[in-house]
Amino acid sequence: MRRVRPAAPQLAGLEPYDPKYLPAEAFLSANENPCDVEAALRAEIVREIRRTALNRYPDPLANDLRDLIAEANGLDRDQVLVGNGGDELLFDLALAWGGPGRTFLNLPPTFSVYATNAQLTNTRIVEVARRADFSLDEEAVLARVAAGDIDYVIVTSPNNPTGERAPEDFVLRLLDATDALVVVDEAYFEFSRRTLRPYLESHENLLILRTFSKAFSLAGVRVGYVLGHAHVIRELVKVRQPYSVDALSQAAARVVFANRATFEPGIAAIIEERERLMRGLLTLPGVTPFPSDANYILFRMEGADAAWAFLYERGVLVRDFSHAPLLEGCLRVTVGTPEQNDGFLAALRDFIMGRCEAR
Ligand SMILES: *Cc1c(COP(=O)(O)O)cnc(C)c1O
Repeated sequence: MRRVRPAAPQLAGLEPYDPKYLPAEAFLSANENPCDVEAALRAEIVREIRRTALNRYPDPLANDLRDLIAEANGLDRDQVLVGNGGDELLFDLALAWGGPGRTFLNLPPTFSVYATNAQLTNTRIVEVARRADFSLDEEAVLARVAAGDIDYVIVTSPNNPTGERAPEDFVLRLLDATDALVVVDEAYFEFSRRTLRPYLESHENLLILRTFSKAFSLAGVRVGYVLGHAHVIRELVKVRQPYSVDALSQAAARVVFANRATFEPGIAAIIEERERLMRGLLTLPGVTPFPSDANYILFRMEGADAAWAFLYERGVLVRDFSHAPLLEGCLRVTVGTPEQNDGFLAALRDFIMGRCEAR
């Protein structure tokens, strides 16, 4: 066997994305909806899939789904683009607004996919870190875009993994201050119930990203979408893979979106459970939870990595950020079912009590 030459140089420092999936009883690590699509909707999805031609290429732009999303948001079809998960659209964004000689403004700690995509596309990354409480350093962000070299910036609202939403007046000031593309990642907006949608008419530089993976229980299906100006969408269409959203995913997403009102009680229940989980965390000595508008809570504690392992032993998988930059000592728990949340709180309490006794 001959040797192979190295891959492209921008891959050198990269680790393949690892969601750290491990089998567990309570899967509270990936911000999914704890409830799968209910039986009646599932039956409707199956009916749609039975009607789907498998030998034909899918509609490349998923126009039926696009129309449903456009109508619900008071937009036209050409202001919506559907992707293979929000992740595909984030990659398309880096291809279309990033690249050699272009600059992305990142606001860490935030979703790690943004920086990876910039690196893969040879986009320069500039960072304005959040404050110690994870709030945005608004004046520093505005000062940095004033330099004029930023091509795109992503504001995650609510932010993952820290949980708080971006102040609306700040995003407006940012949109007014720059001609950079300002992407507002609203992957969790169904839980925060806030959107920048009203500013699409007035701001050509606003792009909103959403997903079916969180509130709408379709993480396994891989569908996300963006809302924006028609000519911004058109640039994204140029870089996308023509058939990235397969016919079966389009069918499932159409059924779920058309019936999205049926998810509302489940979303309301998750928001209530989030508040209960927050109250539970606040009673634990040495645990500092950060306020959340999403379906997860980030918390900091001493011995976070040992706590992660203890929880896992007890069948509860949470996400470990304890060694991630700016997130030292932090774990993130997804809001699960009431039973899962109780199991998590009980296990974490046992860990903390065990440590107190050991002293
Ligand atoms: C989950 C998530 C997405 C999109 O996820 P997909 O499953 O690819 O749709 C985008 N942004 C953030 C911040 C997320 O947490």
